[in-house]
Amino acid sequence: MRKIDKEKRILIVMIKIYCRKKHRSQDLCEECRALLNYALNRLDHCRYGANKGFCNHCPSPCYNQANQAKIRKVMGFSGPRLIFYHPVMVIRHLLS
Ligand SMILES: [Zn+2]
Repeated sequence: MRKIDKEKRILIVMIKIYCRKKHRSQDLCEECRALLNYALNRLDHCRYGANKGFCNHCPSPCYNQANQAKIRKVMGFSGPRLIFYHPVMVIRHLLS
């Protein structure tokens, strides 16, 4: 699997966890859906392409300020909870 697809999957899971716990939404609420679409779109246009690392260690983050703040919150909240859903390797990679 390409790195970028892996990152997309993780992103989707993280936003879902966040929305379910924080917004009590069964699926994704409108705000989280917009954030997810934004993030997926940024990934598709990532200038590092196949060689990219995870966005949280990117040397030149491409998110705008508002979305950057939101995604940080999502990652801070859902990152530790991912341990219950995903293999340890992924978590290590993500949090290292
Ligand atoms: Zn939400």
